[in-house]
Amino acid sequence: MTRALIVVDVQNDFCEGGSLAVAGGADVAFRIGQLLHEWQEAEPNDRKYGYVVATRDHHIEPGDHFSDQPDFVHSWPRHCVAGTDGVGFHPNLDPQPFDAIFDKGEYAAAYSGFEGKSHDDGQALAAWLRDKGVTEVDVCGIATDYCVRATALDAHREGFGTTVLTELTAGVAPASTEQTLVELRAAGVALT
Ligand SMILES: [Zn+2]
Repeated sequence: MTRALIVVDVQNDFCEGGSLAVAGGADVAFRIGQLLHEWQEAEPNDRKYGYVVATRDHHIEPGDHFSDQPDFVHSWPRHCVAGTDGVGFHPNLDPQPFDAIFDKGEYAAAYSGFEGKSHDDGQALAAWLRDKGVTEVDVCGIATDYCVRATALDAHREGFGTTVLTELTAGVAPASTEQTLVELRAAGVALT
């Protein structure tokens, strides 16, 4: 069994000070950094994860995903625009030892990391994971009720044993976050 860690959208614009800040984002970035540090320091045979990957919201012209009057459900203030600081990983996310980075959302909203393509060679996330023999994934990052939710549901649908590390996630709103955890559990996603 090979397990991978998927770090979802831990980007400047989704953390405090960003254009679409999620409360607790910077703290989640810091704690995921600690996990990555421990992973890096462990002996290769003792490592929980065979691979660690990250996704990024990476917008060029995503249509009605952006709005000047956002409803914060289907439309949002401009965020994670390619070439801006907002698209970068938050500096609290240290180290960033990712085996691959998957960008999504260039020309349309894309909440799931499984809609992303590898920054290096354009491969989709599910195919990349299968090529590496990955069968189980842990998902963490921002935001619990949007991109973590969509990524975890897709991971499960793609046949990966899926766990969401809830302590390493931050949600946009308490009600939708709570609803998401119920939905994930019902779908067969494990929560820790
Ligand atoms: Zn977006």
